[in-house]
Amino acid sequence: MKALLSSALCLAVLASAADESPVRIAKWKGDAKGAVSLYYDDGLDSGFNNAVPELIRRGLPGTFYICCNWFGGDPANPKLARWSVAKEHPDTIFLGDHTWAHGGVTNAAQFAEEISLNGAMLRRIAGLPEDALLSFALPGAVRWDVKPDEQAKVLAEHHEVLRHDFGGNIGGPKDGQNPTFRMKTAALAAEAFDRAERNGGWESLIFHGVGGDWITFDLEEHGRMLDDLEARAKAGRLWVGSAIDVHKYATERDAAKLQVLKASENGYDVLLPGLDPAKEGNLPLLYDCPLTIVCDAPAGWTKARVRCERNASSVSPDSLEVPVKDGRIVFDMPRPWVGFTVRKAGE
Ligand SMILES: [Zn+2]
Repeated sequence: MKALLSSALCLAVLASAADESPVRIAKWKGDAKGAVSLYYDDGLDSGFNNAVPELIRRGLPGTFYICCNWFGGDPANPKLARWSVAKEHPDTIFLGDHTWAHGGVTNAAQFAEEISLNGAMLRRIAGLPEDALLSFALPGAVRWDVKPDEQAKVLAEHHEVLRHDFGGNIGGPKDGQNPTFRMKTAALAAEAFDRAERNGGWESLIFHGVGGDWITFDLEEHGRMLDDLEARAKAGRLWVGSAIDVHKYATERDAAKLQVLKASENGYDVLLPGLDPAKEGNLPLLYDCPLTIVCDAPAGWTKARVRCERNASSVSPDSLEVPVKDGRIVFDMPRPWVGFTVRKAGE
């Protein structure tokens, strides 16, 4: 009986290898269908007063792009110091670099100076390590004389990542293909959320003022939009992630090179050599967003023990207990892991 089960499972494994492996990396965190990021530009009062508390209340991440020089470049200035809310709520409030002065740049050296100053101050305010990755947003409507390849080089040197394209409330339309470019209502935002679910993509929305300041998005509509997003996130349909976390997740996922070494009714042995930072050319541990792993549960399992097989650093749990749900074992793998085994856990 056991041999029969085993060969049946092997056949199932072989058959599914052609289309879907019994162990896979979810396209998006939590195995959501799509990802959404919310951007708030310019560090405005209305963003701080109206958007920040609503995001915290719902546990939805947002990224706030700030120019420190607008507040005297002085971390003691209350309008800058208040963004330490990112330190108190590291899972919801994220700071992004929007250059030191929002004044544009005329060469790569000036660009480097701008983001070096601004990035260092933002990391300090947010309580992040000096080398933490930050999302970078180009300031709009200013002179920008840096070639794309120079820009990419300076960003990489300063551990910053160019912000993902967005739709949103900036007055467009930029082209005929982005119906959310003039996004002024929750209903229009919902079109972007639907698209993320339908296409399995990453949609980003940009805001400036929320119920005040400039390029304003109506406060009640903003609340409705967040209600909609919260419901989709709770149902597991969308992952709402900060700009930098979605970037990290997608980069790690695409680099991981998952290998299922063994698959049987006894479980799985899995390696992800692309995540080993000791190997030349691989991602550093700055890319620290846990990947969601989805395994088919062998018949009769109710719980699984997932054990770290190879670890790239000493600061992570060495095993997880994961319940079987809908025939699947789903867990977020701590980033330093480079491999794991899945076995049946005791009842
Ligand atoms: Zn701006």
